Amino acid sequence: MPIDIDQFITTLEQEVRDYQVPVVDLIAVQTNDPYRILVATILSARTRDEVTAKAATRLFKEAPDLDSLAGLSEERLAELIKPVGFFRNKAGYLAKLPESLDREFNGKIPETVEQLCKLPGVGRKTANLVVAVAFKKPAICVDTHVHRIMNIWAYVQTATPLATEMALRRQLPEKYWLKINSILVAFGQGTCKSQRPHCDRCVLGDSCPKIGVTPRKIPGRKTTTNSSLKMVSWNVNGLRAVEKKGFIDLANELDADLLALQEIKALPEQLSEQLLNLPGYKAYYHSAEKKGYAGVCTYSRVEPDNIIYGLGNEEFDREGRVLTLEFADFYFINTYFPNAQHGLHRLPFKLDFNETIQAFCRQLAKKKSVIICGDLNVAHQAIDLANPKSNEKNPGFTIEERNWLDSFLAAGFIDTFRIFNQEAGQYTWWSYRFNARARNIGWRIDYFCVDEKSRRRVRNSTIKAEILGSDHCPIALEWK
Ligand code: SF4
Repeated sequence: MPIDIDQFITTLEQEVRDYQVPVVDLIAVQTNDPYRILVATILSARTRDEVTAKAATRLFKEAPDLDSLAGLSEERLAELIKPVGFFRNKAGYLAKLPESLDREFNGKIPETVEQLCKLPGVGRKTANLVVAVAFKKPAICVDTHVHRIMNIWAYVQTATPLATEMALRRQLPEKYWLKINSILVAFGQGTCKSQRPHCDRCVLGDSCPKIGVTPRKIPGRKTTTNSSLKMVSWNVNGLRAVEKKGFIDLANELDADLLALQEIKALPEQLSEQLLNLPGYKAYYHSAEKKGYAGVCTYSRVEPDNIIYGLGNEEFDREGRVLTLEFADFYFINTYFPNAQHGLHRLPFKLDFNETIQAFCRQLAKKKSVIICGDLNVAHQAIDLANPKSNEKNPGFTIEERNWLDSFLAAGFIDTFRIFNQEAGQYTWWSYRFNARARNIGWRIDYFCVDEKSRRRVRNSTIKAEILGSDHCPIALEWK
């Protein structure tokens, strides 16, 4: 059945009032200045709104109008707008903009789509947005959200944004042309996301045809510990940073019963509502005293019977490195080992920590199964890093650290990944430098280990290298 477009748009107009306003609309509300709206629109292509907003603020401080823009070099423009997507190309377009406007339009921002499309860096989508937002003239800006959502609703059946624009020009009542973009951008960013839209909480849920959609899964809280469980460990290198890279959706995607995060670099009170209340989970934290440093957090669908914070050693515990959840028949230890650091100046501290946590694990393993996961900050053998020879004296691959891991395994624990996979090139961490991840020049320093007696409970142990967002990737354990 065809959708009722009036009802859909009216409903969404109400709905997105509380959503974040798309950046170009925000700038329009603040300034009403066609120059600023045009420049912000150019900056916003393939860039997240918060990045565009910061870049536009920096740029408008030095270039509040076309004349001052003309006085900036392309290099300076690139510095000011970095890190918006394709910032070098965009700096080039902005450098040419004043002259182009002078030559073609007497220094004025033109008001039609066709004229705007003659300017450097301005395509049809940008031009439509400027016409609609800056000049309040009938124009339909079809970006990826409008194109995608209109097809999900089967209001159009088109293959490209241009075909969508043409179809909407024919059938969408003109009263919606100006606002449809900002409504659907806000809605597409907040609810009808491109990956796993949140149909479960969508105001259009009952009447939307959902053409081609795979909605997100809704995690349900488990209450028993006897069923099989999926456990994931991930050094996120800053929980607030990874939230901006889509952590909430990735957490849904990972679909773990226990999700152990390391290096969260935050106190709970610094986290957003979304992170504090991940649907289906309860969150447990052991943050470092020092702000922005270390810290671990475990999201659990299963209520633990008991929680143990740290190792009972003040020196280690103030760094927020160990959090243990106790369940009926196993302990789940989430840990972030210290790094031996440049010059190995923290190697003694690290080795002390290693011995302490080993004794802790052995104590717990006397009572029930032990799973210990996290960033151990050590590659075990040559097979576990891309360049073993050149790293023999470097933190994470010193003989002392590797000897300790040998002793830990000899004391009755298993590196579960190596039960299933003996291949080289299986890494969990890559430097941000030298394009290391793309070239797979990495290290395997994140582990799921279990006590030997519990080996039969391990169903699989894998590395999820395809998940981006941190310099580490998640690892997973299936447990029965
Ligand atoms: S029900 Fe799902 S697919 Fe339809 S509009 Fe809402 S979020 Fe998008």
